[in-house]
Amino acid sequence: MGGVRLGIIGDPVAHSLSPKMHQAAMRQLGISGEYLLLPTPATELARRLEEVRAGFNGVNVTVPHKRAVMPLLDEVEDRARAIGAVNTIVNRGGVLLGYNTDAPGFYRALESAGFLTGEALVLGAGGAARAIVYELVSRGWLVGVANRTFARAEQLAAELGAWAVAPDKISKAVSKTPLLINATSAGLGDPDQAPLPEGALPADGAVVDIVYGPRRTKLLRQAAAAGLATMDGLEMLLQQGALAFELWSGGPAPLAAMRRALEEG
Ligand code: NAP
Repeated sequence: MGGVRLGIIGDPVAHSLSPKMHQAAMRQLGISGEYLLLPTPATELARRLEEVRAGFNGVNVTVPHKRAVMPLLDEVEDRARAIGAVNTIVNRGGVLLGYNTDAPGFYRALESAGFLTGEALVLGAGGAARAIVYELVSRGWLVGVANRTFARAEQLAAELGAWAVAPDKISKAVSKTPLLINATSAGLGDPDQAPLPEGALPADGAVVDIVYGPRRTKLLRQAAAAGLATMDGLEMLLQQGALAFELWSGGPAPLAAMRRALEEG
């Protein structure tokens, strides 16, 4: 098998939409190659990276290895280091370079929706929330963080230059924000689960949910019913993939073909 070799390292990875998206990109550009699922338990991570070094042009990294992979790489860009997570590895002649494209991918998604409000309330304090808060703060936004476990919101906010919303202030902060971002996993795999109590929505703002399975989460359905502008998680998935593809290929990613592949599921 000749051509470009790409893949995704995680555990599990069987559900990943990345192969479809990147295979569509290669097809569209006439690049011969493959994008493989590389299921990797934690005990196999170091061995897997040597396999990548020896035979892959690049890989994506997903749950649960985005942080664990960092000390195994030769270089990690500043953004990924500050976030504490690498989701894209580029192999430059045997040197493994780590990047985070979730964060700028999220920002590109906001740009594509026109949601550049300069101020946002992020729900969640896990890996995805970290990437989003980092990116927004580094672009000068004012960012509030609310989380089920308040101590995690406090820690993330203090580390990244955001402010933590106390539990008794969340509903007021939600109603006042121009941009509400769900970066929790509430709603993932459950169309009836939401990160906030019924009716808690911005009075006059946009709502983004980065969950993409299902796309129309309960939060987004409620927001749309209230007349608010919404964006689901597929655009972030697309844009982080497009940025990874650009790092690997050195050229622009064929966004329309990649979006189509994701929409087909
Ligand atoms: P994570 O590190 O496990 O963090 C999960 C977060 O969700 C924590 O803040 C947790 O709160 C909160 N949470 C979980 N269940 C909740 C519930 N029922 N109600 C309220 N809060 C809840 O996960 P992650 O890696 O950040 O991922 C979060 C979500 O983002 C996942 O659904 C993932 O699929 C999605 N994601 C999407 C993209 C994309 O490209 N669209 C990219 C990355 C991630 P506690 O701290 O209290 O536990």
